[in-house]
Amino acid sequence: MPSKAKLEYDQLPYPTVIVVGGGFAGLEVVRGLAGKPYKVLLLDKQNHHCFQPLLYQVATASLGADSIAHPFRRTVGPMHNVAFRMAEVRRVIHSEKRVETNLGSYSYDLLVIATGSTTNFFGNEALAQEAMQLKSISQALDIRSDLLQDFEAAVDLRSEEEQRRYLNFIIVGAGPTGVELSGALAEIRRNVLQHEYREMDAHLMRIVLIDSNDRVLKNFSEKASANALRYLSELGVEVKLDLRVTDCGLGSVTLSDGSVMETNTVIWAAGVKGQPVPGLEGAMNERASRYEVDGSNELKGFPGIYVLGDIALMNSDEAWPKGHPQVATVAIQQGRHLVRNLLSRAEGKPMVPFKFVDKGSMAVIGRRRAVADIGKRSFGGTLAWLLWMFVHVIQLVSFRNRIMVLVNWGWKYLSWKNTIRLIIRPYVRKGTAVSTPFVAHE
Ligand SMILES: Cc1cc2nc3c(=O)[nH]c(=O)nc-3n(C[C@H](O)[C@H](O)[C@H](O)COP(=O)(O)OP(=O)(O)OC[C@H]3O[C@@H](n4cnc5c(N)ncnc54)[C@H](O)[C@@H]3O)c2cc1C
Repeated sequence: MPSKAKLEYDQLPYPTVIVVGGGFAGLEVVRGLAGKPYKVLLLDKQNHHCFQPLLYQVATASLGADSIAHPFRRTVGPMHNVAFRMAEVRRVIHSEKRVETNLGSYSYDLLVIATGSTTNFFGNEALAQEAMQLKSISQALDIRSDLLQDFEAAVDLRSEEEQRRYLNFIIVGAGPTGVELSGALAEIRRNVLQHEYREMDAHLMRIVLIDSNDRVLKNFSEKASANALRYLSELGVEVKLDLRVTDCGLGSVTLSDGSVMETNTVIWAAGVKGQPVPGLEGAMNERASRYEVDGSNELKGFPGIYVLGDIALMNSDEAWPKGHPQVATVAIQQGRHLVRNLLSRAEGKPMVPFKFVDKGSMAVIGRRRAVADIGKRSFGGTLAWLLWMFVHVIQLVSFRNRIMVLVNWGWKYLSWKNTIRLIIRPYVRKGTAVSTPFVAHE
């Protein structure tokens, strides 16, 4: 027998809005429509929201996975007009106004697509096969395990040459993710490797950051790029610019200048592309791998379908003729804007076009080393670092997440250590049966 709550939800006399994806954009829509005259169904293939900007801290053992994730059911539980299904949407049948998922089919009156983006290897199959990615919690945990397994393997090796292969970490892409990851790895070398892996020379660990652009943080101001480069150099990160990774095999990468670097770990942070849903191909901009939308985020040629966040390409916002950057702030603002528009629509009022309010960009390289571009001002150091922490903490979804992150950061600040260095789920590198070498001891 269906529960009272289910009966109440099913019988709500409102139009059904299906939201596909509970990331930054989708979750804003769900929260904004809670208690409003719409029946909302959130569909996500995961059971939790993931705060991607702090994934690199999970990968480098500063934060636990549960500090940056929040179960959807905790969010929607108190919302009587919202339901959640952990389901992957596999096709949109626009003519019948329904979506097909692994759980079955759901009908909608309005559809919101906010499926975000996935890693873009720009067609390089070898990299797609070998490189590690940082787009989800499980990928962050893979990097964490790989990193720690490499340390454990290297400490017991006799030959320095072999040790180097385990301790060469190559990060491709010097955008915020690559820069933040490199800085965090350099701090691990300085604070953890040096003190807790005493039998091994910590300086054998190399962190190499590669980018095809001529400066790090290409989308930031020149001053911020220069500051970031200086911080990275101070921490001992080797930055290689104007270079591309052309090939990647088991144990090495080849660069565009022909040089080959021995490594066990390549982390790809060099680009993303939209994560489309089959059935809406007519509105896909293939070059950008994003759906073309009008000023109110409605999918071109598909009335009643709205697309938000990383997967949306809007050219009508005058300040952003090539589309908005694929960042959380755009996704959040678009989600909030759509809620306002849907509420106006329910009252028979016209929709208003979206305009992105750019509040600036920030990246953190290490303790008291961060850069911030806010309006026309660019600054670095402790002030930028504190601002970065404040902005990230207040954006976390739940109070519990905020407390956990603050406690972990406070502890790390006092102890100088990345505390969550646990190999709980060992990482088995593709193409290898075992991930650590076996050495016979006499
Ligand atoms: C490592 C990293 C660091 C970042 N740092 C920053 C930063 O510092 N500042 C910043 O502003 N931005 C940052 N970003 C970018 C930011 O996270 C994205 O722009 C933002 O997440 C986009 O929000 P979204 O709602 O479009 O998609 P997402 O937040 O990616 O959410 C998409 C959701 O859709 C779900 N989904 C996908 N396909 C399906 C399907 N077929 N069926 C059901 N569910 C599906 C996914 O499970 C996911 O929950 C970072 C991103 C990464 C990966």
